[in-house]
Amino acid sequence: MLREACCYERLSEGRVRCNLCIRRCTIGEGERGFCRVRGNRGGRLYNLYYGELSSFSVDYVEKTPLYLFYPNHQFLNLGGVGCNLACEFCLAWNITQVEPEEVRTSRLTPEQIVSAAIATRCRGIVYTHSEPTLNLEFYLEVMKAARERGLKNVLATNGYVTLEAFSMLEPYLDAVALTVKGSAEFYSRRCGFTYAREHLHALAERIRRAGIHLEVVMVLVPNENDDEASVAEAVELAKRGDAGITITLDFGAKLLIPSKSMPRVLSVALSSKEELSSLEVPEVGEEKMAPLKLLLESEGFAAGNLRMPFTFAATLLYPLESFLLDLNLDKRFVHELLDYALRYNLELARAMLEAGAELIFTEDPSASSSVISPSHYREFAYPYEKRLIREIKSRGAKVVLHICGDVSALLEDMLTLGVDAISVDESMDMAALRKKTVAWGNVSPSLLVNGSPEEVAEASREIAELRSGVVLSSGCVVPGNAKPENLLAMVAAAKG
Ligand code: SF4
Repeated sequence: MLREACCYERLSEGRVRCNLCIRRCTIGEGERGFCRVRGNRGGRLYNLYYGELSSFSVDYVEKTPLYLFYPNHQFLNLGGVGCNLACEFCLAWNITQVEPEEVRTSRLTPEQIVSAAIATRCRGIVYTHSEPTLNLEFYLEVMKAARERGLKNVLATNGYVTLEAFSMLEPYLDAVALTVKGSAEFYSRRCGFTYAREHLHALAERIRRAGIHLEVVMVLVPNENDDEASVAEAVELAKRGDAGITITLDFGAKLLIPSKSMPRVLSVALSSKEELSSLEVPEVGEEKMAPLKLLLESEGFAAGNLRMPFTFAATLLYPLESFLLDLNLDKRFVHELLDYALRYNLELARAMLEAGAELIFTEDPSASSSVISPSHYREFAYPYEKRLIREIKSRGAKVVLHICGDVSALLEDMLTLGVDAISVDESMDMAALRKKTVAWGNVSPSLLVNGSPEEVAEASREIAELRSGVVLSSGCVVPGNAKPENLLAMVAAAKG
């Protein structure tokens, strides 16, 4: 189907210049550009294959491949025709490297595509297989319709789209899988075009600045582009504009994990209460437990970590301020959120325990007395902690519970939860706590960052010398920017 193209300029003598990709082909009357998808008809540029789909399938997003964006979720995959590169190793050569008219295609309206995605319970749509930006005019319509129905849009691209054309897609994109092929020499030899390093880097920076999830992809061809220089190009691109690793969790919350500081939540899973009813608890597959199994193999012991339902809901599911207000204004909704958080954590606990975890470290910092009152703790945090702990203990594992700040007002309740140890931060007295339960803590995290090894050793020795009923650890987390020499000083103190 013909549709007048976007992103072009009219030149003299009936010629046009296409500005969709960085080839910027000049195309004479009756001719086509390099991609064969866009052609000059009467001095105007047309998308000659508007809405022509060569493939239409449902698959896991890991096939895109995206590994940190709604893992374990299915997406609807759309493929078109043509490409602006000519890679000799293309996995989809039969739709990209042949004349577009040789490809069998079919047509669907944007509404039909979106309805199909919803009917097949897909989380979103992936524009892939051929170079999707060549069908920008059509995919833009699909993206708008998908966004209106709450679906996510994922672009799998070689990145040769111009920045001006990309700016049309940008408002509707949630994730991009950006492929890099290899070194400059490899591009020239096997991809039919030069390596546009600066352009790809500018595009990656732009994607990140726009808050769109980005993963860099590379297809490795043995003995062709698996050399150090080629892989280094992919690594350089992945680092571009990178403030850390962003992860969109399987229930929709988005996290940033900076390389040298603490992870933070970029956005929670729900933007409205109504969305909760469609949130499902995903099954946690065995493959997600690979790091835990590795630890078990190398160390002979592995512990899991869970965020208790109250903190899970307050930090990952719903905006914190609204959640705290609803403790008084909409208790029913809060309990529904907590119920989801509990079911999610029960599923995670099951997977961890089946993978071999012998201990689960649980944390509930948002239930601290510096955030909510003890009565709110008893009403909203404690019952869900109890159910999760009971389930873990019934499977034979040990449980540690950490709540930040001064937990004196909560301690009697916490002691009835049946945990094996209580972890506290530096505001609590370890000597007093160990008379009631195993006390876990409590070297100051800020001391681990800012202190000297001597100061850390002294603070650690004070705890270690209490001997029985104590586990020496940091009070709260070990910060990502803690000095390694301080951690070694703490470990040395523990060993005596
Ligand atoms: S999209 Fe096609 S016609 Fe346009 S510049 Fe790129 S290769 Fe040429």
